[in-house]
Amino acid sequence: MSDVLIVLIPGGETPSRSELAALGFGLKAAGLVGGACDALLLGPNASSAAAGVAEHGARTVLVGDHADLAKPTGEAHAAAIGAVAKSGGYRLVAGPATTAMRDCLPRVAARLKAPMASDVLALGECDGSKIGITKPSFSGNLLADVDLVGPAAVATCRASSFDPPAATGAAAPIKAAELPATLAHARKKFVEMNRTPLERPELTEADTVVSGGRGTRGAEGFKLLEELADVLGAAVGASRAVVDAGWMPNDFQVGQTGKVIAPKLYIGCGLSGAIQHLAGMRNSKTIVAINKDANAPIFEVADYGLVADLFEAVPALTAAVKKHRG
Ligand SMILES: Cc1cc2nc3c(=O)[nH]c(=O)nc-3n(C[C@H](O)[C@H](O)[C@H](O)COP(=O)(O)OP(=O)(O)OC[C@H]3O[C@@H](n4cnc5c(N)ncnc54)[C@H](O)[C@@H]3O)c2cc1C
Repeated sequence: MSDVLIVLIPGGETPSRSELAALGFGLKAAGLVGGACDALLLGPNASSAAAGVAEHGARTVLVGDHADLAKPTGEAHAAAIGAVAKSGGYRLVAGPATTAMRDCLPRVAARLKAPMASDVLALGECDGSKIGITKPSFSGNLLADVDLVGPAAVATCRASSFDPPAATGAAAPIKAAELPATLAHARKKFVEMNRTPLERPELTEADTVVSGGRGTRGAEGFKLLEELADVLGAAVGASRAVVDAGWMPNDFQVGQTGKVIAPKLYIGCGLSGAIQHLAGMRNSKTIVAINKDANAPIFEVADYGLVADLFEAVPALTAAVKKHRG
């Protein structure tokens, strides 16, 4: 009981940075508890993504490509993960803190009768009786050190807090995971998946994010931010006020009830910096804020602040970047 199982539901045919970062978390945990780290890949992209994962230090890559995972639910994922976790007797079962994992891993914890921690930021002391972790509380305003006590534990990790492991030059064996014949749940049915089509990098994967708040005054104002994002090769983010107003789709929301990101550069334009927004972006490496109110709370976390009207500053910045890049 000292091995770690990292569960991934690959979004594409090659593993993303955040999926590999979750594997990095698993390898680190395995090192602390003195075991090995296996990866379990589930869903239609599992087989194709397996080779990319196998090069990064896992002992074994297990692939679970089951008909009931083509139209998945949290229950189907939990049934698959629970079966593999029980037969492997893992010390820790974990995955990145994605929407799907937040849905299924607590169900896995219930199946294993194990403690569960969400959004792990760091690992502490681990031994045969406990896994020590650090997790955010109160929108990231407090960090809690918690011990998950017992023979098994379950966790989601914040992928942006961990580094993807380098390729080792050797490939782990890829095996089919042994799953129950039926994973579907009698009382729950998958109806439809609606994905927002993306023209720019995905928020949680991007090195640079240009984000806007109510100061943009509407979807038209957001076009200025999109122009800046395009010259920087950046993703676009938004505050909840913007999403609630229908100016941008929900997928773009950064914050406590949106996406948690930690890009190298975060440029926040016309947003106040409410604590619920900061919960999603305060770990960005460099924060730039553009706001016409010098007392806006966003300036308290900003590395660089510009007190200006975004309708003048953002086009000027876009033009300057374009000129600089020739
Ligand atoms: C339970 C809960 C969860 C929440 N989750 C989230 C979340 O996940 N993400 C999130 O963002 N919010 C969240 N919120 C909402 C949050 O509290 C704020 O209401 C929201 O973040 C404010 O959005 P904003 O900064 O765009 O708007 P505002 O607070 O209205 O700020 C607009 C800013 O734009 C500036 N401005 C106006 N015009 C210009 C201009 N021309 N040029 C430059 N600056 C200008 C103003 O000075 C002001 O600072 C949550 C709230 C609750 C209660």
